[in-house]
This record gives sequence, C-alpha cells and structure tokens, in this order.
Amino acid sequence: MVSKPPLLLCLSGHDPSGGAGILADVRAAAAAGVHALTVITALTAQDSRNVRRVWALAPLLLEEQIDALLDDCRIGAIKIGLLGEAAQLPPILRAIERAGVPVVLDPVLRAGGGADLVGAPLVAALLETLLPRVSLLTPNAAEARRLAPGAADLDGCAAQLLRRGAAQVLVTGGDEPTPETVQNRWYAAEGAPRLFEWPRLPASFHGAGCTLASAIAARLARGESMATAVEDGQRWTQQALACAYGVGHGRPIPGTPGGGA
Ligand code: PLP
Repeated sequence: MVSKPPLLLCLSGHDPSGGAGILADVRAAAAAGVHALTVITALTAQDSRNVRRVWALAPLLLEEQIDALLDDCRIGAIKIGLLGEAAQLPPILRAIERAGVPVVLDPVLRAGGGADLVGAPLVAALLETLLPRVSLLTPNAAEARRLAPGAADLDGCAAQLLRRGAAQVLVTGGDEPTPETVQNRWYAAEGAPRLFEWPRLPASFHGAGCTLASAIAARLARGESMATAVEDGQRWTQQALACAYGVGHGRPIPGTPGGGA
C-alpha cells in the first residue's frame, strides 16, 4: 500500500531567492509531514533585500492547474499567499467552493523591503469576495492597518476584518516596535484576542509571514483544530527563524529546524 500524506494546496507567488512564497510553503508543509500541491499565482524578480517586479499568471493557467489537481487529489486545506491580479479571484473562489476545506489567507501586500506588491483594485476585490471565504487571515500589523483603514488600533482592525467576513484573524507583530517580544494576537470572534508572545530574535527575516501561514495551513490539512494549528504553527515558525540563514546581502530566510538548508 502506498502511503498518502495529507495534502495542502498552495496558491502563492514564486520568490526565486527561496525565502518566501511557494518555496517557503513547501518547506513548512514538508516539515509537518504534509505534501504541498503548488500553483504559482505570480512570478517575481527579487533578491533577499526587496522585490523588483511581479508578473501575474493568467487566470486560465491557474484554473487549469487547480482543476487538474482537484480532479485527482483530496486536499486537506488551502493556503493562499501573494495574488497577481483581481482576475485571479474567480478561479480561486471556485476552487474554495469545490474543495470545501479550511482556507488560510496570508494577505501579502508589501515586501519587507518596502515594495508594494498589490494595487488598490486587488485589495478591494480581496476584501469583497475572498475574505468571507477565509477560515484564518494572517496579516502582519501593517497589512491589518491597510486592510482595515480607519480602525483606531489593531483590535479595531481585527474586529473590522471579522465583520467583513473572515472567520478568524491572526495579527502578527513581527513588524511592530516591541523590543523584547513579538506579540501575535489571535481573534476567533469579536471580543478579547488570545495573545501569543515569542522572544524577539535579533534579526528581521524574509519570508517569515509565508512560513507561518503555511505552517498553520499544513496543520489544518492534517486535521488539527484551529487552536492547535495556530499555536503549534507559531512554535515551529519560531524554531525555523531561530535557525535562519543568509542567501544574499539582505534579510536571512527561515531555516529547517533539525537540519538541512
Ligand atoms: N515574494 C513573495 C512571492 C511573497 O509571497 C512574499 C511575502 O509573503 C514576499 C516576496 C515578501 O516577503 P517578505 O515581506 O518576508 O520579505
């Protein structure tokens, strides 16, 4: 009998430097014993410092790849990262409808190096059509503020995103100026969030957000509860960041706990 590991469908951009995007998804899934099915939404030109350019893949290419996989495979969860253009949303929404599994959306809006990756029309379409189908949204603080403009603070941003349809929100604080710890807040419904605090590591990383979202999505694909996936996904990501390594002159990328590049 051939064994069949849990499957995670990843819809993400490709980062040729290997720190973020679909390659981060594959590593995080593999470390959780999950096989990643990979459909690339956008190609990028980037290095370990910043993104220079993003090319969206044609919606028809996404649709054909997704259909081929869903015709053949029983997936356990979907992870969505960088999107190339609003026209990619209809095939993605159809895939979510068809698969009927948990969806983790990492709303990649801006590179850590500062480049804007997504324009206003895509942000608006994402909020309108994709957000209500998302099981867990994983913005960093800056992304939460951009997705929920006008909110007084991060609690207000999360409340707005829940009201707009996200089932749950994990706002990460790696980009916030808390010197000792990184504070991540998990909002499962309106009201008090659950706070997770992790020791702040002495670096800023390239690909941390993608890695965390995939680590959580892989655990959901394994059938774990959201509470377990959110906590264990963060713990594993912290370990991956603790063994980060450099590939260029910019920010280090998450490593593989237990060895190997
Ligand atoms: N490139 C791709 C394809 C991504 O998905 C992301 C982030 O998720 C980035 C670049 C930017 O990563 P970072 O902000 O960690 O540098």
